[in-house]
Amino acid sequence: MKGQRMTPFSQYTPKAASDHPVVNSLEPRLRNLSPEAREAARHFPFLVPEALASRIDWEQDGPLTRAYLPSAEELTRVAGDSTDPLDEAAARIVPGLIIKYPGRALLKVTAGCAIHCRFCFRRHARNDALPRKCREWEPALSAIEADGSLREVILSGGDPLTLSDRRLARLTRRLAAIPHLTRLRIHTRMPVVTPERVTVRLIRWLQATRLTPFVVVHVNHADELDSRAKAALASLVDAGIPVLNQSVLLRGINDDPEILATLFETLIDMRVIPYYLHMLDPVAGAAHFGVSEARALALMADLGTRLPGYGLPRLVREWPGGTGKRWLPFHG
Ligand code: SF4
Repeated sequence: MKGQRMTPFSQYTPKAASDHPVVNSLEPRLRNLSPEAREAARHFPFLVPEALASRIDWEQDGPLTRAYLPSAEELTRVAGDSTDPLDEAAARIVPGLIIKYPGRALLKVTAGCAIHCRFCFRRHARNDALPRKCREWEPALSAIEADGSLREVILSGGDPLTLSDRRLARLTRRLAAIPHLTRLRIHTRMPVVTPERVTVRLIRWLQATRLTPFVVVHVNHADELDSRAKAALASLVDAGIPVLNQSVLLRGINDDPEILATLFETLIDMRVIPYYLHMLDPVAGAAHFGVSEARALALMADLGTRLPGYGLPRLVREWPGGTGKRWLPFHG
């Protein structure tokens, strides 16, 4: 972070998402929720880090309110929705390890997050039984070791950066000792929603590993990027760590060409590459965020006339089980 001091590691050693300053459903700002929205929060609790919560006008029906405030619409069920929309259970090799794509393995290192996004495709997976202690990770690590075709491990969750650096470093040391692995990818929202998580120690750990690190963040609207989030992302880029972004196309949040163009321009100005724009996965409780494929293709065609090629993410839809992603072609 040029010209700015980052939070010393000693001030940040979380063990779980519950260690983060959050507001909860008893806070005054949530008193106006309808009984149905409170019921939705019972299934998937309201959870927003205080720093982000204080920037949102909860009285307005704005994009961030829609993204994070429980709503009655979450109780609606539609045909085809699922609590495991990508059928990750089918791609699970052993607890915590998912292999969907050639050469890449995904480790769900925690079910905890610093924020609960109402559209999350893993919103029903918060209580998944995942390995915690080092020895409990051995079946997953041994499976990765035994598969010489793997090159990359993706740390996912939940949010892997809700774990302490010490636990992450221990796991990564074990991964780095597997000779056929070359890359380590981290999927996280923490630099955006809890920027103080990007510490000197975190950056040193990422720089020190033998594996080539990639950080993939998740931003859906430029309003999520305040000066502290921008500084946290800049500190990663300045340290030579490639940072990519994936977004989800969400009705009422970012299904608008101006909003998306502003988001992607903001990202490329920050040297963060827009990587994927995901169609919403059909997760139970989030159908009200869905955008039609025709609308998504029209938005991409519009964006293609406004943005340089490197600022245009790939529009993708994921398919259940081990079948992976499909790019949606558009004519820009
Ligand atoms: S989208 Fe990411 S940060 Fe948000 S609830 Fe899901 S896993 Fe957690």
